[in-house]
Amino acid sequence: MKFGGTSMAGTERIRRVANIVRAQAARGDQVAVVVSAMAGETDRLVNFCREANPLYDPAEYDVVVASGEQVTSGLLALTLQALGCKSRSWLGWQLPIHTIEAHAKARVESIDAEALIASMEAGEIAVIPGFQGLSEDNRVTTLGRGGSDTSAVAVAAAIKADRCDIYTDVDGVYTTDPRIVAKAKKQKAVTYEEMLELASVGAKVLQTRSVGLAMKEKVRVQVLSSFIGEGAPPADELPGTMIVSDEEMDELVEKGLMERQLVTGIAHDKNEAKVILTRVPDRPGAVANIFEPLAAASINVDMIIQNVGRDKGETDVTFTVPQSDLARAQALLEDRRGEIGFNRIITDSKIAKISVVGVGMKSHAGVASSMFRALSDRGINIQAISTSEIKISVMIDEDETELAVRVLHTAYGLDAAD
Ligand code: ADP
Ligand code: ASP
Ligand code: MG
Repeated sequence: MKFGGTSMAGTERIRRVANIVRAQAARGDQVAVVVSAMAGETDRLVNFCREANPLYDPAEYDVVVASGEQVTSGLLALTLQALGCKSRSWLGWQLPIHTIEAHAKARVESIDAEALIASMEAGEIAVIPGFQGLSEDNRVTTLGRGGSDTSAVAVAAAIKADRCDIYTDVDGVYTTDPRIVAKAKKQKAVTYEEMLELASVGAKVLQTRSVGLAMKEKVRVQVLSSFIGEGAPPADELPGTMIVSDEEMDELVEKGLMERQLVTGIAHDKNEAKVILTRVPDRPGAVANIFEPLAAASINVDMIIQNVGRDKGETDVTFTVPQSDLARAQALLEDRRGEIGFNRIITDSKIAKISVVGVGMKSHAGVASSMFRALSDRGINIQAISTSEIKISVMIDEDETELAVRVLHTAYGLDAAD
C-alpha cells in the first residue's frame, strides 16, 4: 500500500491512512506500506537547499529532501501503534534499498527484503519511507520527484506482493487530469504500455519509472483513492484503476467490461522550454554538434524540428529541454557558438506539450489529423509535433493548455455523459 503526499498531509489524514491499513491487515493480509512526505514538504525542503547554496551538491540535497519521508513513516508507525497494531518503520538505509549513485535521480537496483519479510511474517506492519535509498558508497539517495511510486513498486517486487495499491487523491486513472476536465472518465483498466506513455508525457498520477518497473517485474498495480468514507468498497474489490497487460485488457474487452478505445488518455506538460537556433549550417554533423554537448551534460532533449534548409545552406533547428535545464543548455550552446555556427538562440518557457495516447493508433489512421483539425478549429497554433507508435504530441502556447486538453477530450469522444 502506498500513500501519496495529500494522503499523508497532517496527523488527521495519517490517522485515516492508518485506519485503511488496519482494515487491510484485519482481512488477514501481511502489509508493507510506503509513504510520501506531507504534501508541500518536499518543495519546502528543495527551497531550503536553493537558499543555502544555489549550486547545491546533489548528495547533500538528497540528505535534506529525503527527510520528509522519514517524518511521515515514523508518524504512521506511531499512529498504527496507537490503533493497537504492531508496526515499525524501515528507513531506506536500514533495509537497505540499494540504488545507483545518481543523486536526486537515483534508480533502485535491489532491495534486501529478508528482515522486512521476517518482520511482516511476525505480524508487524512495515512502514517504509518512499523516495529514498542508499548508494554503494553509503550515502542517502533520492529517486526523483514523485519517486515514492517507484519505491512502492520496487518493495512490492522485492517481497513478491500480490498487489501494489497506490492510494492517492483521485480514485483512479482518468482519460485526462480530472482537475482540468470535469468530464474526464475513470478507467477500469489501462495497459502498462499506455500508462508508461501517459506518465512520460505528464500524467503525474504515477511516476514514469514506477510503471516501467511494474511492467518489467510483473507487479499488479492499482491506483485508488485514500479519500474514502466508511462504507467504501475494500481495495480487494478493485474499486480503482488496474494497470494490466495487453492480454488482460483483451479479456476485459471480451467480457464487455472495457470498451476498446482509439485514445486512452490525454496529458499535458508545462515543464518544458523551447530553444531555437537560427541559421545553423545545413551540412552533415551540424545537429550532432548541437546535441552532443547537451547529451554529455545529461540534458534530455524531447521534440526536435529542423526546418528545410534556406538559401545559403542554412537552417533553423528547434527543440525542447526541461525548463529546469534551460539555463544550463543555453550556456553550453553559447560556449560552442563557434563550433556549431548558429546566429541566434531564441528561448521560450511559455510552451506546453499536449499528448494523445492510445494503442488503437497502431492500427488506425487519422488520429493525428483529427487532433490538428480540432486544435485549429479553436485557433490554437501548433509549434512542433512529435509522434511515437502510440502517441502524438504537439507543442502549443502555455496559455492554451487547458483549452487544448478540453477540446481534444471532446474531439476524441472521451467526455463522460452528464
Ligand atoms: P500523490 O501525492 O498521491 O503521489 P500526485 O499529485 O503525484 O499524487 O498524483 C495525483 C494527481 O495526478 C491527481 O490529483 C491529478 O490531478 C493528477 N493527474 C494527472 N493526470 C491524471 C489522470 N489521467 N488521471 C488521474 N489523475 C491525474
Ligand atoms: N515526496 C517526494 C516528492 O514530492 C516523493 C513523492 O511524493 O513521491 O517528489
Ligand atoms: Mg505522486
